[in-house]
Amino acid sequence: MTWQSMPRDPRAARAEAMMLARSALRWVWTRRGTDVTTSMARSSCLVVAPHPDDETLGCAVAVIRKRAVGTPVTIVIVSDGSKAEPVTLPPDELVEVREAETRRACAVLGVTETDVLFLGFPDSELGGSLDAIASRLAEIIRARRPAQILVPASCEGHPDHDATHDAATQAAAAAEFTGQLLEYTVWFWTHWPWTRGYGTRDRSANRLLFEPVRRLREGRPLLVDARGLRERQRRALAEHATQVGTGDPGDVPVTGPLLATLRSRHEVYVEAGALHHLDFPRPWRDTPPG
Ligand SMILES: [Zn+2]
Repeated sequence: MTWQSMPRDPRAARAEAMMLARSALRWVWTRRGTDVTTSMARSSCLVVAPHPDDETLGCAVAVIRKRAVGTPVTIVIVSDGSKAEPVTLPPDELVEVREAETRRACAVLGVTETDVLFLGFPDSELGGSLDAIASRLAEIIRARRPAQILVPASCEGHPDHDATHDAATQAAAAAEFTGQLLEYTVWFWTHWPWTRGYGTRDRSANRLLFEPVRRLREGRPLLVDARGLRERQRRALAEHATQVGTGDPGDVPVTGPLLATLRSRHEVYVEAGALHHLDFPRPWRDTPPG
């Protein structure tokens, strides 16, 4: 970015500063990580994505590496993607368009059409269909017998992502899955600094300073080397045209922090349950206080 293109709007400048701080914290955290690039490429896997595009945002690098050496990959998209913003198409048409976009994006990642499955649960309402989703996923796990399942992190803080995490872990248990369950990250990176709360509304010293330090000491990320593969990930993401559009910020839902991670050297995973202490409330499970 040149100085001429620096955002003049104070809110945009703050957002830019926040993104730089997050990238720096992410870099520091990954210094403590374990490189799993080789084992990742060899493990057949099932990617469980809440929405069309999460497979590309969260797991593209791992999927490309697996397919490059002929490792089987199945991608299952849980929701129908009908509530995506901006809504410019009638829901039925949007569902069809997004399915086609997903097939094309997965093809760029090296995954053939028959290995991309759509469960078609209503977008934005996944928490209400947990058992039904888990039962469909359990069938797929039994049929495909992957060595590994990649699910959204437990603390994504997006209701559909958290519900997908819960349904997928429930399905793994129901299918008596004994392989490796790993969590990938999409919305996780948008919470300062990966905290149990949205944004930075609470500007206490604890939240702004101490929590980041605590976070960096907790857990060790699992890293998949992304060097040389981000361009292909971007090409796959571009196939989700309804979501990335022209890339004009404010015009499309997939921007800013979600895209910032696409510039980093590693794709990040965590062991199942490693970040449970950061989980957001589960309306479908937790009883409200009082
Ligand atoms: Zn999503």
